[in-house]
Amino acid sequence: MNNSMPPVKRQSNIFYRWLNYGKNFADKAANILYPSTCIHCSTPISNSQSLCALCWSDLRPITEPFCPILGLPFDIDMGANTLSASAISNPPIFDRARSAFIYSDISLSIISKLKYADRPDLAKYCAQLMANILAPILEGNPILVPVPLHWTRQFNRRYNQASEIARHLAKICNLQMELTLVKRTKRTKRQVGLSAKERRKNITNAFSVNPDALNIAQSNRIILVDDVITTGATLNEIAKTLKKAGIEKIDVISFARVLNNMHI
Ligand SMILES: [Zn+2]
Repeated sequence: MNNSMPPVKRQSNIFYRWLNYGKNFADKAANILYPSTCIHCSTPISNSQSLCALCWSDLRPITEPFCPILGLPFDIDMGANTLSASAISNPPIFDRARSAFIYSDISLSIISKLKYADRPDLAKYCAQLMANILAPILEGNPILVPVPLHWTRQFNRRYNQASEIARHLAKICNLQMELTLVKRTKRTKRQVGLSAKERRKNITNAFSVNPDALNIAQSNRIILVDDVITTGATLNEIAKTLKKAGIEKIDVISFARVLNNMHI
């Protein structure tokens, strides 16, 4: 008998080679039939899951100077420790918030497709664009915790967009992610269209902390992950629940941020 591979393994190699040919052919055919297009305006582009140059230039990244607590951008630099009026008049329960982009047509378009158009694949793109703003607040071995959906909403949508973003962020930044630490126990009304006061009332006592996950968590630092921060009412309510359970430091991070003067 020669030293060639056993027949079964050779057969399986041939099978996988044909499978690969098939897959490559299917990928090429898919590219011809469905060329990569801009997430927002559908202009053909070379990269899949991306924006065209024009839409990219319309994205509004949040860069310094910004409020060190709420992450709200300032028009002019007033010094490193200057707080925004909102952080002074209505200090949040969480410690710091950071968002990658100001809420705009383009960021809304990406988030809407991620949430409502069955495009969980876009979470990877969002996470890649959020990694830079996460890096400066990574001290103390934090754990990423996505804002949970109520199970009925997650059942209908099939996935939680915040979990999908957190999963990719954890991979990119080599962090632990904990999906079961916070549970949404109350099925709340959608926050869209509610005033800040109504949002706070709607979300009160909507979350609980899983004591088993709390015992397993190796850190008392949490970074909550969400797609959009609007008034911060949901994140404040989760931070209140987590601080009551003994978590010391809670930061929040989102893809987009609604500014105070915007009405959505
Ligand atoms: Zn475009």
